[in-house]
Amino acid sequence: MNRTFLVLAFAILLFACSAPVEEGEAPELPQKAKNVILFIGDGVGIPTLNAASLFGYGKPLSLFVQQMPHSGLSDTSAANSWVSDSASGMTAIMTGTKTNNGVVSLGPDTIRREQDGQILKTLLELAEEKGLATGVVSNSSMADATPAACYAHANDRNKTGEIFRQILEPRFGDGVDVVIGPGRDAILGATAELEIDLAKALEDAGYTFVLSESEMLEAAPGTQRLVALYPDNEYDLATSADSAFEILSRDPDGFFLMVESNNHSEDVEATLSGTVKMDRMIRSLAERVGPDTLVIFAADHSYAYRIPGGGPGDEVISLVTVEDTHTAEEVLVAAQGPGSEAVRGLFPNTKLFSIMKEAYGW
Ligand SMILES: [Zn+2]
Repeated sequence: MNRTFLVLAFAILLFACSAPVEEGEAPELPQKAKNVILFIGDGVGIPTLNAASLFGYGKPLSLFVQQMPHSGLSDTSAANSWVSDSASGMTAIMTGTKTNNGVVSLGPDTIRREQDGQILKTLLELAEEKGLATGVVSNSSMADATPAACYAHANDRNKTGEIFRQILEPRFGDGVDVVIGPGRDAILGATAELEIDLAKALEDAGYTFVLSESEMLEAAPGTQRLVALYPDNEYDLATSADSAFEILSRDPDGFFLMVESNNHSEDVEATLSGTVKMDRMIRSLAERVGPDTLVIFAADHSYAYRIPGGGPGDEVISLVTVEDTHTAEEVLVAAQGPGSEAVRGLFPNTKLFSIMKEAYGW
């Protein structure tokens, strides 16, 4: 490269750097999210969404999540397996790091059931540290892998007591604010084994602690910190999500809310009607949030539902073939609101963490 060229290049660079930026002409920065609502369809892969649309609406592409403005496909593999379970799947989404199946928000250096690996700070814990309100709602046990990977760290997903006690002993921030869902007896039993008087410990930590849907509905308007543990599945997930949304919305600093709808079983009718209900819940909340809220739908892994035949007018349930197993293919991610334009193309599940984090502007 000759000297004259170098001098010229340097002059151009200087000019470029010093070029005045006129006020009012700067491109508008993308708006940041004040709130993020992450919906997880546990096991709700593309085959299940496809079947649920046919089941619920008699035609394809009729679910709300199939019509959100931004969508992409997420890989779901775990660090040690092509096929993910909910623990490694949710760890990737909440921490941006792939780990081994069965491991809850600890690194892939974890030896399952034996030894903790690196602690991976979750998006919920980050939100706690930033002063946001946080919540988890599910139709699975509140100590099960998907909610657990938001607020706890454990070398095995089945360590119910150890997982749930981390609500009382958070590693980052002052603990998740709202916890609503089933698992009452298992959680009370497992924490009692660790000699924790859960009711007392939660009250000492500033939570309102209730054990039924009706008590939850009574408590929600007057509390900022609520743990509701239901005895069974006789309650409405969307109602619980609404209450969590109302409580968290009262925090002027913003919030992070994760709502899981677990819909994968051999029971085709329950799975498909559960998926349609989940979709209606997402639509209803997405229509009520302000423009400052990122709403994102993802699945932690897929599930082996297939429709190998049939046509318009056919009864859908009998068309579905089921193999009761998680499957490895990519899953749909769909989003609206600030930061949602990053949901496009195909990407690793770990990218969901950075999409949400960057949406907040962190
Ligand atoms: Zn799962």
